[in-house]
Amino acid sequence: MKIQAAVARTVHGPLTLESLELEDPRADEILVRVVATGVCHTDIVVRDGMLPTPMPVVLGHEGSGVVEKVGANVTKVAPGDHVVMTYNSCGGCPSCDDHAPSYCHEFFPRNFFATREDGTTALSKEGEVIQSNFFGQSSFATHALCHERNIVKVTDAVSLELLGPLACGVQTGAGAVINALQVKVGKSIAIFGTGSVGLSAVMAAHAMGATTIIAVDMNAERLAFAEQVGATHSLNRAKGDVTAAIMEITGYGVDYALDTTGLTPVINGAVLSLAPRGACGVLGASAPGSEIILDEVHFMSGGRRLLGIVEGESNPDSFIPQLIDLYQQGKFPFDKMIRFYPFEQINEAIADSESGVTIKPVVRM
Ligand SMILES: [Zn+2]
Ligand SMILES: [Zn+2]
Repeated sequence: MKIQAAVARTVHGPLTLESLELEDPRADEILVRVVATGVCHTDIVVRDGMLPTPMPVVLGHEGSGVVEKVGANVTKVAPGDHVVMTYNSCGGCPSCDDHAPSYCHEFFPRNFFATREDGTTALSKEGEVIQSNFFGQSSFATHALCHERNIVKVTDAVSLELLGPLACGVQTGAGAVINALQVKVGKSIAIFGTGSVGLSAVMAAHAMGATTIIAVDMNAERLAFAEQVGATHSLNRAKGDVTAAIMEITGYGVDYALDTTGLTPVINGAVLSLAPRGACGVLGASAPGSEIILDEVHFMSGGRRLLGIVEGESNPDSFIPQLIDLYQQGKFPFDKMIRFYPFEQINEAIADSESGVTIKPVVRM
């Protein structure tokens, strides 16, 4: 079929809206009419050539839409179902067997190679190969093919346009707090970085009943927003020693810390701000080879923990509906971060994300 898609053709270049051909779904594939797709930092990183995803490629990995057609072997969803498309996984490795698909042993090829497993792509333009299947979807497009492993059925009681970001950025921040760190009622947490991931973590910590929630950033406007959605304190990293300020607020350090920046000096400080038995989660990607430095005695003697976290360690089939429930109850107002753009303005949406004008851009098809 003919579709419209935003194609990344050159490193750092603008995406171009083009008319492409999309193959029919194979037996294990699902055709989704895309309603809206969030713009995630990872799309920008790939557009900028920092990962070996081949071009020309259709990016986009926070798609929401309606199932239009399913392959012969698909039983999980049916035409008409409202769905979001999340990260892909293999379903057969030790992590997938253990219900930890975000640590799938095939995470990288399944999400970044932008081909099917057999090396083919579903997209083309007058015979030219266009890479598809980015994060099992390539949803910067009016239609996308995805898989049972990465499609999540959602309620039709909430506007579909809002829900795409739950599939990556929002579940990354909220899941880090709820699934990985397992923040408990009455505890304290410091969250470093107040982009859409960090702010999702702030909202999740608030929803889980944490009573000291410290947002850390250098952007005063974002810190003010963090306080609107649950932060009890905000610290401007540009204006003083954050670790000392956290000690002053808590007396002995925070029970949990979460770094969303991927900046190793910030991570070093996050670990130093932990109370005894505290845990620090790290979810941002730094440059390859970057090293985290720990004060060994401080780390060991307090029984402190440091953990890497991908996609909020979430099991999307259960976690995304849970986030929607929290949203419907008024406990997780992630919609406040979203600004909509028409599909034709996808490059403006990306630019506004990079400049920080918009916290979470979503393009409407
Ligand atoms: Zn797997
Ligand atoms: Zn993402």
